[in-house]
Amino acid sequence: MNLSKSKYTLGVRCCKLLWLSMFKKEEASEVESDSVLESGNLVGELARHLFGDTYTLIDFDKGFDNMIKDTIIALEDSPNIICEASFAYDNNFCSIDILKNDSDGVEVYEVKSSTDIKDIYIDDISYQVWVLKKNGLKVKNAYIVYVNSDYIKDGELDIHKYFKIKNVTNILNLDVVLENITKFKDILRNKTEINTDLSLSCKNPYPCPFFSYCTRSLPRPNVFDVGCSTFFSKKLDMYYQGKVTYEELLKTNAFSDKAREQMMFELYDLEPKIDKPSIKSLLDSFTYPLYFLDFESYQEAIPKIDGTRPYQQICFQYSLHYYLEEGGKLYHKEYLSCDYNGNPMYGLSKQLCDDIPLNSCILVYNDSFEKTRLKEMALLFPDYSSHLLNIRDGIKDLLPPFKNHQYYVKEMYGSASIKKVLPALFPNDKTLDYHNLEDVHKGDEASNAYLSLSKLSKDKEEKLRTNMLKYCWLDTYAMVKIYNKLKEDIK
Ligand code: SF4
Repeated sequence: MNLSKSKYTLGVRCCKLLWLSMFKKEEASEVESDSVLESGNLVGELARHLFGDTYTLIDFDKGFDNMIKDTIIALEDSPNIICEASFAYDNNFCSIDILKNDSDGVEVYEVKSSTDIKDIYIDDISYQVWVLKKNGLKVKNAYIVYVNSDYIKDGELDIHKYFKIKNVTNILNLDVVLENITKFKDILRNKTEINTDLSLSCKNPYPCPFFSYCTRSLPRPNVFDVGCSTFFSKKLDMYYQGKVTYEELLKTNAFSDKAREQMMFELYDLEPKIDKPSIKSLLDSFTYPLYFLDFESYQEAIPKIDGTRPYQQICFQYSLHYYLEEGGKLYHKEYLSCDYNGNPMYGLSKQLCDDIPLNSCILVYNDSFEKTRLKEMALLFPDYSSHLLNIRDGIKDLLPPFKNHQYYVKEMYGSASIKKVLPALFPNDKTLDYHNLEDVHKGDEASNAYLSLSKLSKDKEEKLRTNMLKYCWLDTYAMVKIYNKLKEDIK
């Protein structure tokens, strides 16, 4: 029975997760997107230059046996740097991202594309160090290399400032590696599905893709369907106490008023709740001309644009609906950058300042996102800074009535996300159904679409751009519809 470091870490997270990943992959609800994997690979490739541009790369395509043989040869060249150095001991395999092969021992560098260190990384590198030691190598130190979220690109990327390196030698979990390996191999030899109860590992450090599968026998709705920002630990606590159905949960005092309200609405099929005075007071604070704005953005692990940080949201598109006067005609403007290799935020900022006059009232859905983007762009572009900050100051939010349950219908299922609120308010309106769009139905698809545009033929690029515009158009049109519905329902 073979074990790799990825299987080892799956087992540490949850034994059932390891078993299901091996024998019931088809039950996983989602897989990591290509863009996440790609960004991890790019960060890994960049880190290979941490000790200079001279290193030996063990060729992954040659298969594991040849990788191990090539590693043995490379190790003789000490001192040197070996990337993807590969080892096996008793059918436990691992490739080391960067092995610093000094004359008096080796140092292990495990590269992560995240901006913090998760506990599971320690188990990951512990397994690698254990395999190395079993191969007779003297491991002097073990390090996690991860991304410095405070790094701001200024000219050529400074790899030593971009990465952070933490020495984890003294916190390795070496004592449990053998015990774990024996347990995990036993599990994988067993063709019968193992039984492991739910735990915090189901959501931490990553949401488990088998969560729907593992909770499939619970009655619906159940404790894990409670929304309203309820902590997973609280839901788990109730589940362990055997309180799973909404009837059982409502007999406890464990949940917030909003969560209780969600359960009551679904259980007793309650009529919509509309707190007219609160909503009226919010709507009365809006002035005309009235704008409805939505940005689309992408994130990249390795910043390409000067003045930006790793994973900063880079805006490339917006949609803007607006009324010049109450009850008047609805207008629309939009922007989608063509500057695929430059800074899309520049053209976007320029046109946004043309499209939204000073001192306007601008509606968004969940204002922290747009406000933060406007502040970042104001810092980047002094020419537009005061206008962008003026737009930021004019922003009003359409989210609070839904988040605060001043407007609540049971089909919101405890969520105030616009993607839940819209179908809840307009269940039969096909024009508002994101499923009817082509290519782009949600934010991450819009990001991936933008990042792919430069690689497409002219025809495909045009078609995708059209579908991106339709998607963003619908985001602000949805806000217009929600705004008008609020106005109508408080009459
Ligand atoms: S959902 Fe939880 S119990 Fe099920 S496999 Fe994932 S981590 Fe394990």
